[in-house]
Amino acid sequence: MVTDFDIVILGGGLNGAALACALANGPHAVAVVEPHPPAAPTEAWDSRIYAYSPGNVGWMKALGGWDESVRAQAVFQMRIHGDAGGRLSFDALDAGLPELAWIAENGRLQASLWRAFQASVNVTTIAARAEAVTWNPDGHHRLHLAGGDSLRARLLVAADGAQSWLRGQAGIGIRSEDYRHVGVVANFETEKPHRGTAFQWFRPDGVLAWLPLPGKHISMVWSTPPEHAAELQALDGDQLARKVAAAGGHGLGPLRRITPAAGFPLVRRRADEWVRPGLVLLGDAAHTVHPLAGQGVNLGFRDSRLLAEMLASGGDPGEIGRLAGYAARRMEDVASMQFTTGGLKKLFARRDGLTQFMRNAGMSLAGGFDPINQALTRHAVL
Ligand SMILES: Cc1cc2nc3c(=O)[nH]c(=O)nc-3n(C[C@H](O)[C@H](O)[C@H](O)COP(=O)(O)OP(=O)(O)OC[C@H]3O[C@@H](n4cnc5c(N)ncnc54)[C@H](O)[C@@H]3O)c2cc1C
Repeated sequence: MVTDFDIVILGGGLNGAALACALANGPHAVAVVEPHPPAAPTEAWDSRIYAYSPGNVGWMKALGGWDESVRAQAVFQMRIHGDAGGRLSFDALDAGLPELAWIAENGRLQASLWRAFQASVNVTTIAARAEAVTWNPDGHHRLHLAGGDSLRARLLVAADGAQSWLRGQAGIGIRSEDYRHVGVVANFETEKPHRGTAFQWFRPDGVLAWLPLPGKHISMVWSTPPEHAAELQALDGDQLARKVAAAGGHGLGPLRRITPAAGFPLVRRRADEWVRPGLVLLGDAAHTVHPLAGQGVNLGFRDSRLLAEMLASGGDPGEIGRLAGYAARRMEDVASMQFTTGGLKKLFARRDGLTQFMRNAGMSLAGGFDPINQALTRHAVL
């Protein structure tokens, strides 16, 4: 059976789901194809915890996609430490903002976004894996699903993640650079309250971040070379807790690990093309960045925000002129984030004494100079 839609979103992860919410009240008939719909959340903590910018949280709340089931912690301060005394601090109060970011679990947010778009008559969800595509020059592409059904769409959206199957089917190349870092993540209970503070340490062995979670809990992301990541992942719960507490100067007292450690190889990617007639790539399918600035999914949300805004006026959603305009407007945000995160990672990977002195002095200087400090803060909250 062939079913026609205006827009078919392949992948219902955070980016595909957020786009579906943003299109739910628009003029188009939308389908979301996802073989693994989110499970109902339990009390257990998800290991995938991200920082979300206030701009994106406000957008999702307005769409009804961020409800009270999302266990979220506001970040009021960020304390960043260099590897030789350099310091940077960001404070919501100083910048005249209610908060700098929100921290929340992937699973609960995804389930909340799904509830919101499933309440709309404009959005159909299809629990299936896509297996083939028939490309048409006029853009009415056809997606063949496991099980034999197919969908015809005026716009196909690749929101199927960093290894994007649809990007591969389109033969779109990708430029990638292995950061030679693995992001080791785990959640911990703390002895002392974190008071909404996020901590980050640029260390000789990588970048360690503690993100505050509701109650006396934190999420750790330790981005570190693969050999060290393997050592961290081989530790038992108590050993890892002691190691992570010591690496953070025991600032929140002893830690207790509450989720097993998991590791994610970190790779910068940028697809060679983001749009073609009747096709758009967004989120991790189009670009990935180092997580040290907590911006990966935030870039994807900004993709969805702009795309939904540009499609809201109706007409053919697959028309290349409008899609090319979208891609051009998103390029700068993504390029500058890839440049900044890649540059910082490289700067702190260098071991020579002069570079170490300069980077730490630079941090303290920028941190002590209000206009720079406030400009950095304002960019991060978009
Ligand atoms: C260690 C680490 C820490 C991070 N921290 C942050 C942070 O603090 N802040 C931040 O903004 N970002 C962070 N990120 C980045 C963030 O995790 C990603 O940007 C985000 O999860 C990508 O979402 P997505 O929806 O694009 O892709 P995904 O979450 O990968 O979703 C893709 C979906 O597509 C589906 N799919 C795949 N193939 C098919 C197919 N053939 N047919 C149908 N469906 C298919 C999959 O089932 C999946 O549900 C971090 C990443 C890492 C690794």
